Amino acid sequence: MHTPDGHTRTCGLIGHPVAHTLSPLIQNHMAQATGQNLVYLPFPVAAGDLGAAVRGALALDFLGLNVTVPYKSDVIAHLTEIDPLAERIGAVNTLVRCQGGYKGYNTDMPGLYRAMKQDGVEIAGREVVILGAGGVARAVAVMLLEKGAAGVHLLNRTRDKARAVAQEVNRMAGRPFARAYALEDYGQIPGEDWLVVQATSAGMHPHREDVPVEDPAFYRRVEIGYDLIFNPGVTRFMKLTESGGGRAYNGARMLVYQGVIAFELWTGTHISQGTADELCRMMAQAL
Ligand code: NAP
Repeated sequence: MHTPDGHTRTCGLIGHPVAHTLSPLIQNHMAQATGQNLVYLPFPVAAGDLGAAVRGALALDFLGLNVTVPYKSDVIAHLTEIDPLAERIGAVNTLVRCQGGYKGYNTDMPGLYRAMKQDGVEIAGREVVILGAGGVARAVAVMLLEKGAAGVHLLNRTRDKARAVAQEVNRMAGRPFARAYALEDYGQIPGEDWLVVQATSAGMHPHREDVPVEDPAFYRRVEIGYDLIFNPGVTRFMKLTESGGGRAYNGARMLVYQGVIAFELWTGTHISQGTADELCRMMAQAL
């Protein structure tokens, strides 16, 4: 690693909390692998201080920032420019220095798309089941629309939230693309061999035994279970998917690729497949 000097560029993560983040590991490894004179640090930002944090980063000439929970939507009000995809998704996780401020991007969804491709999961022309209707589930539905999925079936514990997301995505699509269900109504979803994206927070550390759907009959219809959770590395959802005969993936590759895309935006440097694979191995060890 470069010893920081007068030319060192600074990037960081703002959010609350940020203490357990793996992003410094990912970003500083890429800086080292590509010989960039760049450091990446986590910065906890208290409620109410988001605008001051972005202005402070600008004043200190930070090259860029990542943004995490709970500021991915609120940060939009503090941007100079926004990328059209991030605007449609309604969430920004990457800020890139531009004339007079920062331009906001969403690298979570391009990251998920790249991760799925790498895992051999094809989206185009496919009906996809999404578990959840929070910020990430909504973003996944928009990404699937952009990438040519045939449709999505949104299952959520609170059905009204799934309905609101489906309505919004259908408005964007200009056609009936998304349908909403309560979790227990999965029997209404047509077909077999589902691709299921698990976008709820159920099962995340420390609540490792939680899972949004328990019923083994659900999992017998799952061909691919793609959990966006990366801690733990193997969730109950993944175990149930495999017990039902399906293939299961976790969210570690998505985490790596959202970081890779952010780094590429900041530095204009391409991250090789070898470095990305190495990062995935590091994540598996770290978890
Ligand atoms: P969010 O807005 O808080 O939404 C949480 C969702 O989980 C809601 O749909 C909620 O249902 C559902 N839920 C929570 N506990 C549940 C339970 N016990 N049973 C059934 N459903 C439950 O969260 P988010 O921002 O969308 O994030 C969702 C997940 O995405 C995160 O937990 C994280 O694991 C993952 N993620 C991964 C990455 C990555 O890089 N891999 C990046 C970002 C996020 P209700 O509407 O009924 O409350």
